Amino acid sequence: MTKEVRSVEFVVLPTSRAKARKMFRVAGACRFVWNHFRNKNLEDYQKFKKGNGDRPSVSHFSLGVEFTKFRHETDWLRELPANPVKYTLKYLADALKQAIQGKKGFPKPRSRKKTAPSFTLPDTANFRIKKLDRKYGFLRIPLIGWVKLTRKGGNLWENGVPKQVVLRHDGRRWRAFVFYEVEVEERMDDGEVLGVDMNVRQVATSDGHFYFLPDLNKKEARRMWYQRRMARQVKGSNRRKDTKRKLAKVSRKIANIRKNWIHQTTHEIAEKCGTVAIEDLNVKGMTASAKGTVENPGKNVKQKAGLNRVILDTAFAEIRKKLEYKCGRLIEINPAYTSQTCSECGHTDKENRKTQSRFRCVCCSFTSNADTNAAVNIRRLGMAQLHGEGTDISTVPANREIDTRPVN
Ligand SMILES: [Zn+2]
Repeated sequence: MTKEVRSVEFVVLPTSRAKARKMFRVAGACRFVWNHFRNKNLEDYQKFKKGNGDRPSVSHFSLGVEFTKFRHETDWLRELPANPVKYTLKYLADALKQAIQGKKGFPKPRSRKKTAPSFTLPDTANFRIKKLDRKYGFLRIPLIGWVKLTRKGGNLWENGVPKQVVLRHDGRRWRAFVFYEVEVEERMDDGEVLGVDMNVRQVATSDGHFYFLPDLNKKEARRMWYQRRMARQVKGSNRRKDTKRKLAKVSRKIANIRKNWIHQTTHEIAEKCGTVAIEDLNVKGMTASAKGTVENPGKNVKQKAGLNRVILDTAFAEIRKKLEYKCGRLIEINPAYTSQTCSECGHTDKENRKTQSRFRCVCCSFTSNADTNAAVNIRRLGMAQLHGEGTDISTVPANREIDTRPVN
């Protein structure tokens, strides 16, 4: 048995106006505190970056000490629960640390318009959850009171310990994400690996199965239509507000369909096999283009890359994240040439892939679906990595199955 964190999603049912107003105030305070301490640290950071300043040292703790002082002097902050607002500084401290290490840029300010209102109840915040059954439950937010919840996603963890709650407003309702610490049984390991080839609209597995994303074309066209219409309408007009509401609704629907699909697909994959091999996203992100891969580029790649890249990256990242906790083990392999190599004889050639979907080996005339072929290659590389061999596809004999002989 090992301890893992699982999240359950709830929607906060309509509550009294006073409570709703207070929730927005807490979220607003979080935004204010984020911006306040961000700006405070900006100068030190810029000096350090230019090379004429010490390396700034910030931590959740040091910011927390400053916050306590700041809150003491600020009347309106004192009226709000301290812990959720203070916890914003944990996120800020993490972001600042990454910026100082040069891993990411300096954290951006949070604007009222562009940032969804949200706040986190850490386990020190003294929140409570009661009467949680299959559908409904109650959450007590300190200084705000009890709010009713209805479950939207995730299993109930009856023996789980709720550790943290993230509350976020999606433009229409408040959502509560409750993070439980749960005991889970370690999964069986039979040495088998399932290869997974990811695409934006479909996932192929090495056993020949496909998972297709439901058709979103109509909804996406509708979304684009609303976007264009909104651009034409007068700012502040009621018609524009109406379009904005409709746009938000269709966007939410698209996001939900995508999310559901990812959940169901990854669940089924995890049920099939304890160990799953996928493409390394860092490498994939660099090579994936609007059409095919870098080894087999499509036309107008640069023009198409922008938007598609964003969708691609988020879809891959989401699938990977879900697989990571649903599967026993996740192996990441270098995706180079997985789409061009014949999974039967190992021959690697651009010509093998005449079209986007068909694979036909020029050497042994093996034919297959291109994505299934890639998934089989991914599986083999995963196998090779699992058994401690090289990960370069050219060094792995193509027709190798599990090889338990010692490597000399
Ligand atoms: Zn072949």
